[in-house]
Amino acid sequence: MAQSTFVIVGASLAGAKAAEALRGQGFDGRIVLIGDEQEPPYERPPLSKGYLQGKQEREKIFVHPPEWYAEQRVDLRLGRTVDAIDRDRRVVTVSGGDQAGLDEIGYDKLLLTTGASPRRLPVPGADLDGVFYLRSVGDCERIRQVFQTASRVVFVGGGWIGLETAAAARQAGVAATVVEADELPLLRVLGPRIASVFADLHRENGVDLRLGAQVTEIVGERGRATGVRLADGTRIDGDAVVVGVGITPNIRLAAEAGLKVGNGIVVDASLRTGDPDVYAAGDVANAYHPVLGKHIRVEHWANALNQPQAAARSMLGEPVAYDRIPYFFTDQYDLGMEYAGYAEPGQYDDVVVRGDLARREFIAFWLADGRVLAGMNVNIWDVIGQIQGLIRSGAQVDRDRLADPDVPLDQLTAGG
Ligand SMILES: Cc1cc2nc3c(=O)[nH]c(=O)nc-3n(C[C@H](O)[C@H](O)[C@H](O)COP(=O)(O)OP(=O)(O)OC[C@H]3O[C@@H](n4cnc5c(N)ncnc54)[C@H](O)[C@@H]3O)c2cc1C
Repeated sequence: MAQSTFVIVGASLAGAKAAEALRGQGFDGRIVLIGDEQEPPYERPPLSKGYLQGKQEREKIFVHPPEWYAEQRVDLRLGRTVDAIDRDRRVVTVSGGDQAGLDEIGYDKLLLTTGASPRRLPVPGADLDGVFYLRSVGDCERIRQVFQTASRVVFVGGGWIGLETAAAARQAGVAATVVEADELPLLRVLGPRIASVFADLHRENGVDLRLGAQVTEIVGERGRATGVRLADGTRIDGDAVVVGVGITPNIRLAAEAGLKVGNGIVVDASLRTGDPDVYAAGDVANAYHPVLGKHIRVEHWANALNQPQAAARSMLGEPVAYDRIPYFFTDQYDLGMEYAGYAEPGQYDDVVVRGDLARREFIAFWLADGRVLAGMNVNIWDVIGQIQGLIRSGAQVDRDRLADPDVPLDQLTAGG
C-alpha cells in the first residue's frame, strides 16, 4: 500500500504539536507542515512578556529545536501559503517560497491549524507608519525597538494583549496610555469586580488608563503616527500606537473549500470537519466541547498545545473527544494568574472571591445556578487542577464555603 501523506496547514504551536503527536502515535507516513511565516514554529506568549521585555532569548521561543523536523521526518515548508484546498482531488495548492509558481500537494488527511490574525482598527490613519499590531515575532521585535526610543506609546484596547504590552512598556521605562472603550479593561471577560483589580494594577504602575473612550482616528505627521483622537475630540500624543483589539480566526481557506465555518472552522468533539479527511485545531477551531455541551473556540496557548494530540489520534482513526477544560495564564508586573473554564459575559450570575483582592492574592470563581463555570487564581499556585475539577464536576457548591480559604477546594463537592 502507498505511504499515507498527512498535510498540516499552519506551522505554529498547534501545527508543530500535531506533527509531534502523529509521530508519537506511531504514524510512519509522510508529514508535510506548511507555514507562511519564515520562522520555524514558535510560541507567542513570550512575545508580549519575556521576549518583548528582553528577558528571554530568541531561541527559547521555538516549539522544537531546528534539527527536530528532519529527525522526525517532518517536511517543514516555511514561507509558503496554502491558497486552496481541492477536497474532491484531496490536494492543497501552495504558493510562495523558492519555488516559482504553484505547487500541489496531495493528502490523505488534512489538518488546518491556520490560527488567527489581529483585528484591524477601522479608523482613518490606521495605515500610518508607527501603528503596530502584535501577533508575530517580527511584530514583537519592531515593538521592542520602539520601546528603546519612544517616550510615550498609546495602546488601543485594554484586553490581555494590550495590558501585557503596556506592562512591558512601563518596565522599559516608556510612558503608556491605554485607551479602552469599556468602563474597565477586561470588563466583558471578568466583570467589574475582578476587572478593577487589573485597572488598579496598571494605574499603580503608572499607566494612564482612558476608559469608556473610543478612538476615532490615528493622527500623524509626514506619514507617521503621532497619537490618537478620541470621540470626544481629546487628542492623546504618542510616538507610536499599538493596537490590540482582538483577533479573527483565519477561516478563508476552509470557507472557500466549502467547509462549515462560523466563528472559526466548525468541528465536532473529535476535531473533524464535515469532511472525514479534514480536521482543525488551535485558535481556528470552533470545536464541540462535551463537558460544556456547546461549540467553543479557544484563543489560548494550552488549547493549541493539547488539542493537536486529540486531532492526531482522530486523524489516525481512533475515537477521540477533546474535553479539556480551557486554561490560560498571564503575567503583568508582579501579578501572575491562571484562569480555567469558560464564563461568557451574561452567562454567569455570581462571582465569589476567596482571599484578598487588595493584596492581589485570591481565587475568583464565576458561577451560574451555584455551579462553577470558571475560576482564576491570582498569585496563588497549585490550585488550577482543583479549580478544573470543580468546573468539570458541574456540582452545586456552597458559596460561603467556596469563599472560605480554610475549606479545601477538593472538599466542596460530593458532600465534602
Ligand atoms: C502576543 C501574544 C501573547 C499571547 N499570550 C498568551 C498567554 O499569555 N496565554 C495564553 O494562553 N495564550 C496566549 N496567546 C495566545 C496563543 O499564543 C495562541 O492561542 C496560539 O498561538 C494559537 O496557536 P495556533 O497554532 O492555533 O495558531 P497561530 O499561532 O495563529 O498560528 C497559525 C499559523 O498558521 C499560519 N497560516 C495561516 N493561514 C495559512 C495558510 N493559508 N498557509 C500557510 N500558513 C498559514 C499563520 O501565519 C500562523 O503562522 C498569546 C498570543 C499572542 C499573539
